[in-house]
Amino acid sequence: MRYVSTRGQAAPRDFEAVLLAGLAEDGGLFVPETWPELSAAEWRALRGLPYPALAARILGLFGAGAMPLDAMCRDAYAGFGHPAVVPLVQTDHNIFALELFHGPTLAFKDMALQLLGRMFDHVLAKRGERLTIVGATSGDTGSAAIEACRDRAAIDIVILHPEGRTSEVQRRQMTTVLAPNVKNIAVQGDFDACQDLVKAMFNDAPFRAEMHLSAVNSINWARIAAQIPYYVAAALALGAPDRDVAVSVPTGNFGNVLAAWAARRMGLPISGFVIGSNHNDILARFLASNDMTAKPVEPSLSPSMDIQVSSNFERLLFELMGRDATATTDAMTRFRAEGRMPVPDAAWRQATALFRGFTLDDAGTLAEIRRLWTTAGYLADPHTAVGTAAARALPPADPATPVIVAATAHPAKFPDAVERATGIRPPLPARLDDLYEREERFGVLPNDLGAIEAAVRAHARRNAA
Ligand SMILES: *Cc1c(COP(=O)(O)O)cnc(C)c1O
Repeated sequence: MRYVSTRGQAAPRDFEAVLLAGLAEDGGLFVPETWPELSAAEWRALRGLPYPALAARILGLFGAGAMPLDAMCRDAYAGFGHPAVVPLVQTDHNIFALELFHGPTLAFKDMALQLLGRMFDHVLAKRGERLTIVGATSGDTGSAAIEACRDRAAIDIVILHPEGRTSEVQRRQMTTVLAPNVKNIAVQGDFDACQDLVKAMFNDAPFRAEMHLSAVNSINWARIAAQIPYYVAAALALGAPDRDVAVSVPTGNFGNVLAAWAARRMGLPISGFVIGSNHNDILARFLASNDMTAKPVEPSLSPSMDIQVSSNFERLLFELMGRDATATTDAMTRFRAEGRMPVPDAAWRQATALFRGFTLDDAGTLAEIRRLWTTAGYLADPHTAVGTAAARALPPADPATPVIVAATAHPAKFPDAVERATGIRPPLPARLDDLYEREERFGVLPNDLGAIEAAVRAHARRNAA
């Protein structure tokens, strides 16, 4: 299996090269040259597999089979807090929450990142190389990246967070990881300052080469690939391929819902997709009126969906435009320059035949959390509540079709919103209940590129030695 860039100017690569590269050198995103497709009999044969075995089978179809996938997947999901890894919980007539939050940091990013950390380590060891991962976080993605990279032999990781501006749970989920290859830096500045420092490190070519800098951001194809198996698991459990299912996803960068679309592209009978947004609803506006205009981000109760631009949308756009890399490049270039993406009418119509958008404000989100609790005894986090509300507002054409809702965060990760809505403060799972007693370790540095680079260099040197 080879991968090509959505912009058409990068040389095709195999899975391992795409994993290490992240973004293609022409600025595009890697996609499979051809999609694997399964027959109904082949889908049926996957029923009942334990989740790690199913994940290994699916990833094998995407050319990752040179790695010891079975052992890797077993290892990646062994630490999850539920024996099913991704349990399905019915919350309503024909609505099922697919719980993707039983990993170490209680959010769905763990599903892909736990596997990616192991894949990186394996490929780097084989090549005799090392990497330094740097990232900026306002809270959530930093902890998932740290948990994915901790104790990996060939990886060092440095995460910048704005001093005093993350919640205590978020900070402790990062700073209590005492593995020697992990370094946390509290920057005396805000999140934008952290992000600018990371960009500046990547733009400092000699430093970038010296440190082998890399990122584990959501445009990496391997993250999408690792998110496909849970949609397969849920659909098979609900009767696919002998019955249609629908999917509703609380969406930010479009990575999670793109993985569901990929499962459909592989032949799984998914009749349609609902995209849930908070008031940062560029995708809902696009689907309603072909208006893909970036707007300033406003904070919401579902911060992991507070986005201006959904970076993975480029992969769908490429498919909608018949894999025309020139047209994709043109649309993306104009979007960057003008803040509005010109999507041809035919492509937009195709999108609206499969995807529907739904916007929920903070008041609606609290009302949905309350409703789930009073009607079903189900405690949902604000992101998941956007997904269940979207599923109810836009049901499938055939009412017999079950809807799978991606439940993307544990309610204890957003205890303030859940308590406001229900009066109940959800406790952390037992494996995390000593989080407030654990030792923390982090450096505090000024918002200064020289100081940050020196700290990254010292960290990477010490571990490489
Ligand atoms: C990242 C995230 C999302 C958005 O997922 P995308 O793949 O970016 O669309 C939704 N909910 C939670 C809790 C997240 O962490």
